[in-house]
Amino acid sequence: MAMEINGKTKVCALIGHPAEHTLSPLMHNTLAKRLGIDMVYTAFDVEEADLADAIRGAYALGIHGLNITVPHKQAAMEHCVSVSDAARRIGAVNTLVRGRKKDGYTGDNTDAPGLKRALLAEGITVSGEDVIVIGAGGAARAVLMVCAAEKAKRIWLLNRTVERADRLAAEIAGATGYNRIEVMSVADHERIRLRAGHKAVCFQCTGVGMYPLTENAPIEDAAFFDKVSVVFDLIYRPQETRFMRMAREAGCTAYNGLKMLLYQGIESFERWFDVTVDDETAGEALEVIERNLTEKKTIVLTGFMGSGKSTIARLLSDLLDERLLDLDSEIEQRVQTTISDIFAVRGEEAFRAIESRILQEVARTEQPPFILSTGGGVPLRDANRKLMRELGTVVYLKTSPEEVFRRVQGDDSRPLLQTDDPFGTIESLGREREEYYRLVADFTIVTDGREPEDIAGEIVSKVFPE
Ligand code: NAP
Repeated sequence: MAMEINGKTKVCALIGHPAEHTLSPLMHNTLAKRLGIDMVYTAFDVEEADLADAIRGAYALGIHGLNITVPHKQAAMEHCVSVSDAARRIGAVNTLVRGRKKDGYTGDNTDAPGLKRALLAEGITVSGEDVIVIGAGGAARAVLMVCAAEKAKRIWLLNRTVERADRLAAEIAGATGYNRIEVMSVADHERIRLRAGHKAVCFQCTGVGMYPLTENAPIEDAAFFDKVSVVFDLIYRPQETRFMRMAREAGCTAYNGLKMLLYQGIESFERWFDVTVDDETAGEALEVIERNLTEKKTIVLTGFMGSGKSTIARLLSDLLDERLLDLDSEIEQRVQTTISDIFAVRGEEAFRAIESRILQEVARTEQPPFILSTGGGVPLRDANRKLMRELGTVVYLKTSPEEVFRRVQGDDSRPLLQTDDPFGTIESLGREREEYYRLVADFTIVTDGREPEDIAGEIVSKVFPE
C-alpha cells in the first residue's frame, strides 16, 4: 500500500491491545500515498506490561510517529518527554510526535481537534446550543472538551453510571472552567428541560449499538427525539446505528463517527509530517475507509476432515444471515454423484480435478457474500488457494488428530479413511496438509475442547471487528 519501501521509508504505527482490526493503517497509508509521503504505517499489539519498552524501543528504532489507542491512552503519557496542554487537559494521549531533541516523543491528543473538524465538515454548531451527551467514557470526555471550548449554552450529561458522569463533569469544570453541565441517569432523560423553542444537539458516546449488537440503542423512547435536532453518534460500525435510524425516523439529522475517526487521524498525520491535509485528500481517505466498512465479506472455512467446518459454517450462516455453500454438496449436486462414488470409480486425482472445477464455478457464479465450507484437500492446489483467498477471509479450523479421530470414528462416508489404520492416516495426512492450511488462511482457530457456537462467535468478531 505504501509506495516503494526502501531504507529511507519512514515508519509510523499504532500501539494498542488488541490492534489487529484497526482502520488506522488503511487511513494513514492512503493519506501517505495521496500526498506522496514516503511512509508506511502498521499496527503493534502491545500488552500493558510491555508499553514502556515498546515506546522506548519505537523511539530507538526511529519510528517517526505513533498513535496510541485503548487501553494505553493514559499510561502512555508517562513515557513521553513532554505532553501538550490539550493532552494534559483530556488526561490521555493518542498521538506521539518525535521530538527534535532526540530524547523521546511528545504526547498529544487529537480527539478533540478531530471532532471539531468533523463538526465543521458536517456543518454542526454547538456554540450557544443546548447539548445532550450520552455516555461518560473517553469519547464523551473529548466531546465535552469541545462543547465546553465552544461555549455550548448548557450540557445534559446522561450515563448509565451516574457517579462516573458526576466525576467527568467535575473534571471538565476543573480543566476548562465550564460549569453548566447537568448530570443525570440515562433512564431519567424525560427530565431534560430545554429552552422554549430550542432543540438539542445530541452526541451518542456509548458503545451501545456497536457491531455485532446492532439492534440496541441507549435510549429506546421515540419521544426523546422530540427534543433533538441533530444526532452525532460516535459509533461507525455499523455506519447507521439503531439510534441514528430512530433519530432519522423522528425527523432529526444524524451522523456517524467516521469523520471524527478520520479527522483525529488526519490531525496526527499533520503533526508528524508538518503538512495540511486538504478536503479533497480527506474525502478520498474517507471513501477508502467507507468502502472497506461496507464491503461484506465472504468467509471460507478450511481445515482437516472432522474439524467442524460444516457445523461452524451453518452457525455462521445463521449468525450473519448469509447463504451457506458446502463445496462437497455443490460437487455432488452438480456432478450428480456422491463423493464416495467419484473416489471409488474414478480415483482421488479425478476427484481433485472436479473439486477445482466446481470451486472455480462457485467463485465465478455465486453472488458474494456467502459462507463456504470446503473439503479438507482443497488447499493442496495452488490455484485453489488463490481462489479461496480471492473469495474472502479464509479461516483455518485446526484440530488435533486425536480429536479428529474421535469425531469421525464410525463415519463410513469418508473415502480417505477406508484403511486398516484410520488414526495413522489422520495423523500423517494432517501433517502433510498443515502447511497448506496455514498458507491459505487469514487466521487459525484451534477447535479442540471448544463449543462450535463459541468458535463461530470468535470468527464473526475477527472478520467483522467492532
Ligand atoms: P468507554 O470509555 O469504555 O465508555 C463506554 C461508555 O458506554 C460509558 O459511558 C458506559 O457507561 C457506556 N455503556 C457501555 N455499555 C453500556 C450499556 N450496555 N448500556 C448503557 N451504557 C453503556 O468507551 P469510549 O472510549 O468512550 O467509547 C465509546 C464509543 O465511542 C465506542 O463505540 C467507540 O467506538 C466510540 N468512539 C468513536 C470515536 C471516533 O473517532 N468516532 C472515538 C472514540 C470512541 P457506564 O459508565 O455506565 O459503564
